[in-house]
Amino acid sequence: MATILIVEDEDSLREQLAQNLEAEGYETITAEDGQVGLDTARAEQPDLIILDLMLPRLDGLSVCRMIRRDSQVPIIMLSARGMEMDKITGLETGADDYVVKPFGMGELLARVKANLRREASKAAARNPTVIESKELKVDMIARRAWLRDAELHLTQKEFGLLVELMRNKGVVLSRDLLLAQVWGHDYVGNSHTVDVHMRWLREKIEDNPSKPTRITTVRGVGYRFED
Ligand code: CA
Repeated sequence: MATILIVEDEDSLREQLAQNLEAEGYETITAEDGQVGLDTARAEQPDLIILDLMLPRLDGLSVCRMIRRDSQVPIIMLSARGMEMDKITGLETGADDYVVKPFGMGELLARVKANLRREASKAAARNPTVIESKELKVDMIARRAWLRDAELHLTQKEFGLLVELMRNKGVVLSRDLLLAQVWGHDYVGNSHTVDVHMRWLREKIEDNPSKPTRITTVRGVGYRFED
């Protein structure tokens, strides 16, 4: 579950925010001033930050700017009514969203959810969990694989070999490297093990296993997924 850092000097609002977020299943961490907020953000690496604008010691805009130097964590800025929002948004602080006080808890929770969802889809785009190539498709999270839309029934090792090779399309991977990545560094065995499992894998993914075109053998080196 996501962890949310609340940086707010007003006790009652801070507690109310924490209670409401926890009721929704989030974990919360709180900070009462800007400096503690900044230190906590760096130390705890929360998934989202709710940051008040007017804070003792270090104001919200400065905190936001400093966090942005090394983090893309979603930041929702809270500001008091009467502040000119154009001025705040025009300052290029790097905040993702703004909520004007006083606000309803329902509105804030909706903003939190929307910002976390947006961040999750950005993260998914950065680290794809599905790889497709040469009529093959693997879903690394679901641990499933398909050839021309027909699901393949692969063993753990066959799946591991296929994923390692597909993640490194066009690159020759040695038997020792595959052994370490798929079987683990503690595995006591020899690289012939890789060849045996590769033969089984090829029977499932190659049209002609004796003349493989998807995963080829590079003599004396290892295996390569052809791009
Ligand atoms: Ca304040």
